[in-house]
Amino acid sequence: MVRLKSYVLDAWREGDAPFRTLVNPATEQPVAETSTRGLDFAAVHRHAREVGGPALRSLSFAERGALLKAMSRALYAQRERLIEVAIANGGNTRGDAKFDIDGATGTLSYYASLGKQLGDAKWLVDGEAEQLTRSSARFYGLHLRVPRRGAAVHINAFNFPAWGTFEKAAVALLAGVPVITKPATSTAWLTYEMVKILVDEAVLPAGALQLLVGSTGDLLDHVDGQDIVAFTGSADTGAALRGGAGPVSASTAINVEADSLNASVLGPDVDPGSDLWSWFVNGVVREMTQKSGQKCTAIRRVFAPEARLDALRDALAEELDRLVIGDPADPEVRMGPLTTASQLRDYREGVALLSSEGRIVYGSTDPVDAKGVPAGTGYFAGPVILRCDAPREARHVHGHEVFGPVVTLMPYDGTAEDAAALVAKGGGMLATSLATNDRSLLGALALELAPYNGRLLLVDKKVADQATPHGMVLPNLVHGGPGRAGGGEELGGLRGLEHYTQRVALQGNRGLLEKLFVP
Ligand code: NAP
Repeated sequence: MVRLKSYVLDAWREGDAPFRTLVNPATEQPVAETSTRGLDFAAVHRHAREVGGPALRSLSFAERGALLKAMSRALYAQRERLIEVAIANGGNTRGDAKFDIDGATGTLSYYASLGKQLGDAKWLVDGEAEQLTRSSARFYGLHLRVPRRGAAVHINAFNFPAWGTFEKAAVALLAGVPVITKPATSTAWLTYEMVKILVDEAVLPAGALQLLVGSTGDLLDHVDGQDIVAFTGSADTGAALRGGAGPVSASTAINVEADSLNASVLGPDVDPGSDLWSWFVNGVVREMTQKSGQKCTAIRRVFAPEARLDALRDALAEELDRLVIGDPADPEVRMGPLTTASQLRDYREGVALLSSEGRIVYGSTDPVDAKGVPAGTGYFAGPVILRCDAPREARHVHGHEVFGPVVTLMPYDGTAEDAAALVAKGGGMLATSLATNDRSLLGALALELAPYNGRLLLVDKKVADQATPHGMVLPNLVHGGPGRAGGGEELGGLRGLEHYTQRVALQGNRGLLEKLFVP
């Protein structure tokens, strides 16, 4: 069993007992243990601000981009070894592991190229300089975005120990802000190995990246208005951390990416057997089974005209019947276990809750006969399709996220108004997808749904064979969602830098402003 350490103050440090045990969720065997007890969190925070921050701010965007490129290359070079760790600790199939790890290296690489484009500058000029008074052609205003002087404290969810860590780190580091990152403890082994690679290869300046493997201790008591806290996880923890009543001080910027009842809507024009139908069916199956449905962006609710629901259920069932569930170390296995025993418990309780508003039309939460493991071992969850025929009255199907291979099918009347009203009952989503060749439906629905979503995937037959999957987050598009989804926003190319920079308005002599501040 590996004893994981935290990387703080430019050294690997072990916490004191008691240790938390990380397991292989397919075999329930312990794989690692960790603790952060006894670490000096105030010193970790100071180190980021006093050592990491100045080092990063002394670099240009191009130089920071070069660091990101070096990180991406170093991690990619050890991809195979990292995949093994993700299989052993995350319950990931090889495909799941690649999705996570390649997402991390791809996002680092994307932000590296943005750094290169921004060149020698160390801050961003925001818009054009503007004349401020009619009488003076010299007195001008100019906006800049400068790196904050604090630390970026990143708290991540268990389902993406690679991508979650590095999609956040890429943006903060490019902005010039040092990172203290904390993966979810249950799957932290992969993040630990990735940071170890970067430390061994001395890719980053001192203090730029610190890793806590375990609890954040009293770290959040030390953050102030120059720090940024970015949290990804459940809505409950996000609410508990938020400023005001939570431990994060009200003056600290906090970005919350929480869970979401994402939806997918099938247009009435989409006939069974058509290409668009196949895209829709395959998409729902992928979202149910990739990472065993443990994706914040996965489709939880499917809306289709009533006349299509039986055919849709049958098409999904046909695909799911072929699914091989078992030890993800077995190359024939297509879906691994849930990550922890408590996730399995939550899945069972969640399906029972949703069943109170509908009925199961495929699968069950009974123990799974998993390939490659002794009967009764592992946190395996079978795929479940529910059908809810009264979605307007229902509450739980729109509000309770079952973090597993579970979807609920629901009817709508085929109009944009009805679909929009039903999707919006989710209270704010990370992503909704629409499949239709009816342009007026697509246009009307997209505009109605835009205020409730961070991202809309609009697919007609012309892009069905090229569209990225519903659940795939791209670094050039924003990721996040309003309301229930946490109200946060990440990525989106240069937009992501906004969280880590302060916009300041400068007023003064135009010539001087341009000479001093416009590269
Ligand atoms: P979680 O239980 O809320 O934990 C998330 C993170 O918060 C973990 O690192 C956890 O650490 C930490 N944490 C918990 N309590 C804390 C506290 N009081 N102070 C500081 N840190 C604390 O969520 P999870 O079970 O890991 O993740 C699953 C959820 O995340 C799902 O609901 C999913 O939808 C959501 N998610 C959202 C996104 C998105 O981008 N919107 C992405 C992925 C997942 P420990 O592990 O050490 O307890």
